[in-house]
Amino acid sequence: MSGTGKRFPLSLSSIADKPAGSRQTTRTATPQTATRNAAHTLAIQLAGKAAKPVSNAVAGKPAQNGAGKPATNSAPGMQPARNMPAQQQTERTMPMVSEGVRRAMVARVARQGVKDPKVLTAMETVPRHLFLEPAMASQAYIDASLPIGHHQTISQPYIVARMIEVMRNNAQGGVLNKVLEIGTGCGYQAAVLSLVAKEVYSVERIKPLHELAKANLRPMRIANIRLHYGDGMLGFPQVAPFDGIILAAAGLEVPQALLEQMSIGGRLVAPVGAHHQVLQVIERINKYEWTTVTLEDCHFVPLRPGTAG
Ligand code: SAH
Repeated sequence: MSGTGKRFPLSLSSIADKPAGSRQTTRTATPQTATRNAAHTLAIQLAGKAAKPVSNAVAGKPAQNGAGKPATNSAPGMQPARNMPAQQQTERTMPMVSEGVRRAMVARVARQGVKDPKVLTAMETVPRHLFLEPAMASQAYIDASLPIGHHQTISQPYIVARMIEVMRNNAQGGVLNKVLEIGTGCGYQAAVLSLVAKEVYSVERIKPLHELAKANLRPMRIANIRLHYGDGMLGFPQVAPFDGIILAAAGLEVPQALLEQMSIGGRLVAPVGAHHQVLQVIERINKYEWTTVTLEDCHFVPLRPGTAG
C-alpha cells in the first residue's frame, strides 16, 4: 500500500499506483425481476440497529427505501413460487434464510481480511438473499457477485465489506454522517451502509434497477436511506458534502464532481480502470488537495454516463 499527495484537478488514472494481488474476477449478468419478500422480522432487526432517521427528504422525494470468485455451492430444489403470499414464498424458496448461513459468510469475509467489527455486524444483519430474485436466492451467501438484471451485478460480499471498512477508516474514528453510493443496483450495499452511516444517499442510472432497489428496501423500512434516479457521475450536489463516497462501478478515473463533493477529511472508495481495475481510496486533505492510495485489484461493472430508462 502506498500514498501519493496530489493536487487536483488531475487524471486519477495518471497517478494510479501499482496494484497489489488480484482478488476478483469477472461475472456474467442475466436478467432478473424484483424480489418482493415481506421481511417483517428483518425490518424490526434493521430498525433496531439502523441510525436515526434522516430528517430532511432529498430532491422532493419521500422517504423511500434500498465482483468475485466463481459460484461454488447452491441449494437444491429451489423453485420460485410467485403466486404464494410473500411470507410463505420466503419460507418456501429460502430454506437457507437462517442467520447461520449469513454468519458463515461474515466469518469468511473476516478470514479474507476485513476486521472492522461494525462492518461485520452490518453484514451479518442485512439479509442478502432478499435482494435477489427467488431463483438466485440460494446462492446469495456465496463468495461471488451475482446477476441482478440489466447486465449488472450485486457485488461480492467481500468487496462490499472491504469498501465500507476502508471508508470508515477515517480521522473521525469511523463516524460517517452523510454517505453517497454511486450505483444502487439492487440496494444491498445501501442497506449495509445504512447501519454504519447516519444518512445514506444512493444514485442509480438505470430506472428499472432504481425501482428494484426501492421494492427490495421498502419492506425493510430503513429510515436513513434516500434513493435517487440519475447520473451518479454528477454526484448529488443538493446534499453534498459527503464524508464518505463509494462507487460500485468502475470508471477510467473518478469524476471531478465527486471529488468536489467530498468533505475535508472525507474518504472516497472506488474501482478505477477498464479491463484491469484497482480499488482506490481518495482522501480530501483540504479544499485543494486529495491523496490517493491504491489497495488491490478488483472487478466491477463499468461506470457509465447519463441515464437509461
Ligand atoms: N451497489 C450494488 C452494486 C450494483 S452494480 C450492490 O449492492 O451490490 C453497479 C451499479 O452501478 C449498476 O446498477 C449500474 O447501473 C450503476 N451505475 C453505473 N454507472 C452509473 C452512474 N453514472 N450513475 C449511477 N449508477 C451507475
